[in-house]
This record gives sequence, C-alpha cells and structure tokens, in this order.
Amino acid sequence: METCLRGRSFLDGKPLEIILSKGKIKFVSSAKTCPENVWMGPGFTDIQVNGYGGLDYNSIQSDVLALGQISRKLLQVGVTSHFPTIITNSPDKISALIRQVVQLRKMDPLANSCTTGIHIEGPFISPEDGPRGAHYREFVQSPDWELFKKWMEESEGLIRMITLSPEWEGSAAFIEKCVESGILVSIGHTNASHAQITEAVKAGARLSTHLGNGMHSIIARHPNYLWSQLAAENLSATIIADGFHLPAEVIQVFKKVKGEKLMLVSDSVALAGMPAADYEAAVGGKVTLTAEGKLHLFDNPKTLAGSAMNILQGVNFLLKNKLVALPEAWQMVSIRPQRLFDTHFDPFQFGQKADLILAEQLPDQTLKIFKVLKNGVKIPLD
Ligand SMILES: [Zn+2]
Repeated sequence: METCLRGRSFLDGKPLEIILSKGKIKFVSSAKTCPENVWMGPGFTDIQVNGYGGLDYNSIQSDVLALGQISRKLLQVGVTSHFPTIITNSPDKISALIRQVVQLRKMDPLANSCTTGIHIEGPFISPEDGPRGAHYREFVQSPDWELFKKWMEESEGLIRMITLSPEWEGSAAFIEKCVESGILVSIGHTNASHAQITEAVKAGARLSTHLGNGMHSIIARHPNYLWSQLAAENLSATIIADGFHLPAEVIQVFKKVKGEKLMLVSDSVALAGMPAADYEAAVGGKVTLTAEGKLHLFDNPKTLAGSAMNILQGVNFLLKNKLVALPEAWQMVSIRPQRLFDTHFDPFQFGQKADLILAEQLPDQTLKIFKVLKNGVKIPLD
C-alpha cells in the first residue's frame, strides 16, 4: 500500500509530494500546491541522549525493556533516531551500560530502529573542575585504546562517536585509531591548549560537543580552548539550545562562525520530559525541575544539573527567539547531524527509510508536530 503526503519542504518551504511504500521513500516530487501551513521533513536525530522521561541509559535496569520507553517518548516529539549516550564511569560499568543497550535492541525492534548509534562521552576527558562538568572525577583517565576497542566490540559496532579531551598525552594517536575504525571524534569537556586542539583536528577530530558548556566559568581572554575550537575550520559543533545552557547572543555568534556546521543536541538527562518537581537524581543529589524546564541543584538555582529539554524544545527556542528560520532549525536537528556520519545522507532519496514529521508553524514561530512516521508507520501521538 502506498501513502501520499503533501506539504512544504523543510529545506525551502516549496510544495512537495512524497510517496511512501513499504516503510520507505518511493518518490518525491515538487507539487503545484499544498496546504499552506503544513511543513514536511525528516524526523529529528539527537546524537546526545543520556536519558528521558524518567529513564536513564546511565543506570543499570532491573528490566532492560523499560529503556525502550525512551525511544517511544522521543518519537512523540519527533525524534526518530537518537544516540544513547554513556558518560564517564568505571570501565566495567561502561561495559555493562553498553551491553544493556545492545540487549535492548535485540529484544525491542522499535528501540532497535530508533537507537542508531552509541555516543561514549568520557572517560578520556579533562579531570579539571569546570571542564569536567558533572562527570565523576574518580573515573576520568587518559585515553586507552585497548579499553575503547573492548567497548567497541561489546557494542557490536554500535559505538559511532566519542567525546574526549585532547589534553592527554597520546591523544592524537588515539584519535587517529578511532578515525581509522570509523568512529567520529568530538572534542568536549576539555582544558586543552591551542596546540593540542590543533593537533587533535589534524588527527581527525571533526566536532565539538556542546560548545560553550563543560567549561571553566572564567577563562583567559586568549588563547583559550573556546577560540581554538571556534577558529578550527574542520570542526563542526553541537550546542544545547534549551535557553539555560547558552544565552541567545552566544548562539548567534556560534551560528555566524560555524554556519552550516552548527547543530543541536538535547543532552537530555533522565528527568527531561518529567513534571516540574524536586527529585533525587543519580548525579547531583537533590535537584529541582522548574515549570520552564530548568534543572538545577535544589539548594542552588544557579548551578544546572543537566539538560531537561528535548530537541524539539531546542528547535522552538531557536525559532521563538528568531535565532534561525524554520528551514535552518530543522536542518540543525536532521541532515546536519546525519551527515556527520553519512556525508551523502538525503532524507528524500529513493529507498530511504520513511522517518518523517509533519508539523505546523504557530504564530509565535514555534513548530507543532501533528504527525510522526517511523519506517512509514504512523506513531499515535498523545
Ligand atoms: Zn557533557
């Protein structure tokens, strides 16, 4: 059975017709007309998801299948693929967390289709307070290829990227080995010097993780690791656009510098998607989630305890504040992250899996999703 969808293209707003068959794109053509306020484009890709909706990829579950709820809850907000993100921990715990995702994917076909990679964030990051962020100090270490190779094997090829700091000796050699193995290397949680960052880029690092966060609160005017990453031509960058991690003017500057190399992640923690309340968090102890979506330490509203927004809320922050127009915002959460891993990725190509979103743009510029298709199947929205 074939399905026909009509709407405005997420790329340029031009009327488009998409024919789907057997869960895949069959044919895409321009249309003479389409409904005025229906936008169509690929589902969102979020390459940094620690958890969502009360569930956490960073804790061992008594029932692994419970983690499948993350995929289902993210589909509700248009995220059709995401990378479970495992942060700094003991080597054995990281192994166990990787195996948990592998097991989930074998038992749950939908989660299998939604989790398209694993992102390892740490433990080869900066030990320094500030750059290290909320990562456990005791498990931070220098890059260890044998260890990382073991994790890659345990992931059965699912590890697609690693966030590390090139401030450790031997970083360049480690990065080269990652690149040879098809792993995207991203710089983050770093206190590296300009020379170390330059060397990392030369070795093949291609991305900065949540640029502007995971930093000291005060840095030298120059040189510093922010200028070095902004200046590096070959570094793309992800940012958290939840309205709390970065002020709007910083996003404006990053956009001017990075252009089409700038994209979004949610970096959501387990409490994202939960009702406003005080909670006991695995990292950070007692925390408060406000109605506006700010997650902070219970006794210190100035200290963030992770991101509690999904990537659709990030898109809507950009749109509401007129930081980018709709086509660009959509690309920042779809083709840009996808093309980090597949340079030729085209969501409308024949045979591409039909992971699509239909949405309308509200008067305040934000996007309201009213249809999500995963492998061509309509997801019932709450
Ligand atoms: Zn981080």
